[in-house]
Amino acid sequence: MNTIIKALTLNGEVRVYVADTTELTDEARRRHHTTKTATAALGRTLTANVILGADLKGEKDSVSIQIRTEGRAGNIITLSNAACEVKGYISNPDADLPLRADGKLDVGGLLTTNGTLTIVKDIGLKEPYTGTIPLVSGEIAEDITYYFAKSEQIPTSIGLGVLVDKESGCVLKAGGFMIQLLPEASEETIVKIEEILNSGITISKLLAEHENIQDILGILLNGLDYECIETLYPKYQCDCSKARFERGLISLGEEELGRMIEAKEGIETVCHFCNKKYDFTLEELEMYRRVAVQAKEILEKRNQKK
Ligand SMILES: [Zn+2]
Repeated sequence: MNTIIKALTLNGEVRVYVADTTELTDEARRRHHTTKTATAALGRTLTANVILGADLKGEKDSVSIQIRTEGRAGNIITLSNAACEVKGYISNPDADLPLRADGKLDVGGLLTTNGTLTIVKDIGLKEPYTGTIPLVSGEIAEDITYYFAKSEQIPTSIGLGVLVDKESGCVLKAGGFMIQLLPEASEETIVKIEEILNSGITISKLLAEHENIQDILGILLNGLDYECIETLYPKYQCDCSKARFERGLISLGEEELGRMIEAKEGIETVCHFCNKKYDFTLEELEMYRRVAVQAKEILEKRNQKK
């Protein structure tokens, strides 16, 4: 089951989130028909986004990770709310590369470092909070760790891993962690955490060797006493609807809708996030054009009054 555990050491110096996102990553693979490397790239981003989502407070808050690259992957866009309902897409799900010399999926090669990573956090303020960094490795976990180093005051380390079946391409395991050293962290605690992070362990290895993420949590905390604060159950969920696409079509305006009506017998729109298709008939397009015309007239009248 998709699970994320939030824990705090009893001395209040370290915060750790550990996530198992195997099911939602496999759902993303099925929805988007991704290659093995693209599955890993999208899965790592979804996992990171779920961890950031678990940190949100308000019911309507959301956080999005937007990776834009010149690499074969194209762009990866993901979005999570505070309940860890996440969705995402990769613009080129067919993109793939041979395994690296060490046998790992070449996510860094698929993304390259020719690009940017942006995090957009909407916590109900007038403007969402946005930060962008250049990609430093394209491996995603390093890039997000670098993002935290640049934009947040709290030293943060992120690990992300997706294990894919070599034959079928199914997701065997996916997950990640976030470790944060809080401002009052003592030298002794910092040494313990650095020791474990520098020991060569990776989240992929931990996920492969441990069925239970509670065990992984204990290993990451390297003997520090801790308590679990909250457990959340993330899921892949898209909130698209025909009404949302309807609004999008109306906003195209009278002329564009006119062109669509002339050219075709209705259209089909596809949601990027879940691949769900919505059909619009010629009659519906005609109706939207009338709405667009009315909206334009109202706007013009309002402007005249000013
Ligand atoms: Zn959708």
